[in-house]
Amino acid sequence: MCNPPLPQAVQPHMTDLPIAYDLPAAQKTWQDHLLLNRFYPPLTQDVPRRSPMRELISTVLSHRTTHADEELAYDRMLEAFGDWAGVLAAPTAELAHAIRTTRWPDTQAPRIQEILRRIQAERGEFSLDFLEEWPTEKGMQWLNDMPGIGLKTASLVLLFNFRKPVLPVDTHVHRIAQRVGLIGPKASADKAHQVLLEQLPKDSLALLNFHKHNYWHGQRVCLYTKPDCAKCPLKGICNYYLEHYGPATAEAIAATPEKWDTAWGALPH
Ligand code: SF4
Repeated sequence: MCNPPLPQAVQPHMTDLPIAYDLPAAQKTWQDHLLLNRFYPPLTQDVPRRSPMRELISTVLSHRTTHADEELAYDRMLEAFGDWAGVLAAPTAELAHAIRTTRWPDTQAPRIQEILRRIQAERGEFSLDFLEEWPTEKGMQWLNDMPGIGLKTASLVLLFNFRKPVLPVDTHVHRIAQRVGLIGPKASADKAHQVLLEQLPKDSLALLNFHKHNYWHGQRVCLYTKPDCAKCPLKGICNYYLEHYGPATAEAIAATPEKWDTAWGALPH
């Protein structure tokens, strides 16, 4: 086996990437965090947040849907029905039409209305602000009990909006965790939520960065069909790399870019 072709020269290069394929999974997870935290811009606590209600409903709309189509559906929905009370009262078929750019509008429309109905019935208003005061586990359970809300969406709302120490595992985080060897090769996304959270500090900023950096990495470098391993700072710890190319050579390590270059494209939202 030989390493993949080296990327175009980019300065400055890495010189100190670890080569440690047999690290215990928890240590690999921490290395993944440190290496991607250096490769991508670190996020701060000040990163802009969408309102909790918007985060929740947008995440429902985003299922297997591009960000642009999710935003279009969200905007059309509120343009057509005005506010959450209007969305709840709308004929379901008309709501489905308004969100037609999503993957399954006929499923999502009644689901959104049921979520809104429950929030209004239980809280007396369309607001999730009470989650700020609730213990993390209680908030997770409450969100998880909503129709169509799984661990990923519940974690996104609690981490992004309330800075609770939870970890959303989307398809990108899941794929990288499997390839690098942070979790077992057949571990489900739900299992990954639990395992990765146990391996990381209970610190919302670290968890936010871990989620976002692995998400960006999955969108831009560790692609589903053709991972760009030559560019990747995780090559020295990644099981997939070892299996496909053998141990990273000193030359491959030295040719690894130190940081994401905006000339390669903008990072996703
Ligand atoms: S080395 Fe390749 S497979 Fe492993 S994380 Fe990087 S891009 Fe993905």
